[in-house]
Amino acid sequence: MTVTKEIKGVNRCAILKAVKTVELQERPVPTINDDQVLVKVMSTGICGSDIYHYNNPHAPHGMVLGHESAGQITQVGANVKTRHVGQNVAIEPGFLCKKQVPKASKNI
Ligand SMILES: [Zn+2]
Repeated sequence: MTVTKEIKGVNRCAILKAVKTVELQERPVPTINDDQVLVKVMSTGICGSDIYHYNNPHAPHGMVLGHESAGQITQVGANVKTRHVGQNVAIEPGFLCKKQVPKASKNI
């Protein structure tokens, strides 16, 4: 069973469209699985790697910028026992769970 506080809303994203061109988009709120939580992001930083991609003509266009965020958990998957709805969290998505490792990163 997934615990839910809030499931409505929009998912605002800053999308790199081309070099030095960012577009704000509203995307659907993601659906979580039993091992995940959903966070309502309250604040996101733009760091050096975002600026690098913004200025890099070879950066993958369509990528979402801003990956260091803080917010509040709004849904908790059934297998998540150490987090709860309403908990304030800081996110560093560069830390891998090692369960869903991308092919190119299997040696990490
Ligand atoms: Zn960063």
